[in-house]
Amino acid sequence: MNEQTTAVVAGGHIPSRIAKTAKSFRVRPNLVDYDAVRAAFSWEVARESLDGLPGGGLNIAHEAVDHHLGTAHADRTAIRWLGKTGARRELSYRDLAKATNRFANALCGLGVQPGERVFVLMGRLPELYVAVLGALKAGCVVTPLFSAFGPEPIATRCEVGDARVLVTTPELYQRKIAGLRDRLPGLKHVIVVGDGAAEGSGVRRWGDLVDTASAHFTTAPTDAETMALLHFTSGTTGRPKGAIHVHGAVLAHAVTGHYALDLHDDDIFWCTADPGWVTGTSYGIIAPLVAGVTNVVVEAEFDAAIWYSVLEQERISVWYTAPTAIRMMMKLGADAVKGLDLSALRFMASVGEPLNPEAVVWGVEAFGLPFHDNWWQTETGGIMISNYAAMDIKPGSMGKPLPGITAAIVRRDEAGHVEPITEPDVDGELALRTPWPSMMRGYLHEDERYRKCFADGWYLTGDLARVDADGYYWFIGRADDVIKSAGHLIGPFEVESALLEHPAVAEAAVIGVPDPTVGEMVKAFIALKAGFEPTESLMRELLGHARKRLGAAVAPKAIAFRANLPKTRSGKIMRRLLKARELGLPEGDLSTLESDER
Ligand code: ATP
Ligand code: MG
Repeated sequence: MNEQTTAVVAGGHIPSRIAKTAKSFRVRPNLVDYDAVRAAFSWEVARESLDGLPGGGLNIAHEAVDHHLGTAHADRTAIRWLGKTGARRELSYRDLAKATNRFANALCGLGVQPGERVFVLMGRLPELYVAVLGALKAGCVVTPLFSAFGPEPIATRCEVGDARVLVTTPELYQRKIAGLRDRLPGLKHVIVVGDGAAEGSGVRRWGDLVDTASAHFTTAPTDAETMALLHFTSGTTGRPKGAIHVHGAVLAHAVTGHYALDLHDDDIFWCTADPGWVTGTSYGIIAPLVAGVTNVVVEAEFDAAIWYSVLEQERISVWYTAPTAIRMMMKLGADAVKGLDLSALRFMASVGEPLNPEAVVWGVEAFGLPFHDNWWQTETGGIMISNYAAMDIKPGSMGKPLPGITAAIVRRDEAGHVEPITEPDVDGELALRTPWPSMMRGYLHEDERYRKCFADGWYLTGDLARVDADGYYWFIGRADDVIKSAGHLIGPFEVESALLEHPAVAEAAVIGVPDPTVGEMVKAFIALKAGFEPTESLMRELLGHARKRLGAAVAPKAIAFRANLPKTRSGKIMRRLLKARELGLPEGDLSTLESDER
């Protein structure tokens, strides 16, 4: 148990506020007075914290790596890699500079041009990090893909993204790509990392290319508007979109690493997300390196015992994870954490899905620290709304907009005009004032869809939320998932959170099922914790529990038990799939689906 207890939580009850006092933090938070910092903030001034390239250019990899050369950070561990089988590798900022220069030289040696697309498909190996940063130095556009994708999703993304180079492993190449090479005439170079057979046109070994390359490289003259990353969305609501990001996004990574994740000079940071989705790139690679901290990379997939040992053994101080993982740990109980020495851990954050109040409070019970929820999207490139180290938490709220970001709850009229709602506690669409440095600059090949996200100087997020009188934002649900029942608008999150308060419930997903009398009927899908049986009587008990917590109008009318809920590879519950199956409709794009137990 961590000694920095930040909250007073009365037995099992969810407090409306977790108060922060001076005793709540071991180091002074970067953001102490939210209103004052927000009022004084300007992106122009923040830009001065970056180094920049000669002649006014900007390059993400330069800020993440070379910027630290010649400073006290140069010999500090930049990446501490923990392999699946116990191997460890440490790369200092100086080592990383040389390794990324070598890879950039290797790309140039192959004739790869700035602006060409480099796709990276591998587990969380050190070379992944070197490849992403080296390709950015070479001025290429990087797309990291989940290594667990099947051949079809990989080929489609390489096709639409115009992949010129693919960095992968021999095993992944043979198993997933070799058979589809005919479809990818534009894929000129495949670079394989590690031993094993890999035959095919343009297939080269990483070692052969990189080991002999020079460790000196002059970063390509990119600027803030040069395209840097192409990131596919999670595919939770439909076919994934390719969001285009520019090198200028690094300013948002720097600012959010500082304020939202509260990164300090001597931190040991661990972001559990895979670079195959945007959190694993923006915060699993860029933000911690720009901040000059030690970035821990864990190759293994989620396993509570491994995770707890990483937290303890590596003395992680700042930990950024996701609701699905937190709920899995909750399933195993807080006792598994007791007895660990987590005295280094001082800040925990979560993103990706709504974080149920129960989970925030469980953080305090298990770790002595609350989880700090924050909200953003692939499209926003970085954290937009956040709970801050020194700010009281209202469990269930996403927090407040970052300094430099103006958010609002808006309604759209029939002509498409956007009008901010000024009174608090009104449901509407979450919108962000444009522009900000990490705002997407396009959806690949989908101009019309991109344009539709913007109106009257606002970016429309497609998420519904409300803001309270204190300026805290509350997630309601994705616009697509909101249920209209007997004249009420019901957000799935509220219903799921109430269900999660029941001791038998490990996970819950709520959808609307068409109903002739009420429009849509609320139906919940529930995965139970170990030791609970999916019986009629438990179902009745859960229906009663929800009715008591939510009232008859909002509570689910039907419950179905499932061993697991369908999720994306980034850990998001796919409500659209539950709905399609319920209604016997086509299942749609399943390229990002992970678990598929019905
Ligand atoms: P797609 O756009 O392809 O359907 P996706 O929206 O899940 O997939 P991402 O960009 O990875 O793709 O996820 C962003 C979305 O995740 C947000 O729009 C929001 O719905 C949800 N989300 C992220 N963080 C939070 C949070 N803290 N609270 C609630 N929802 C969140
Ligand atoms: Mg989305």
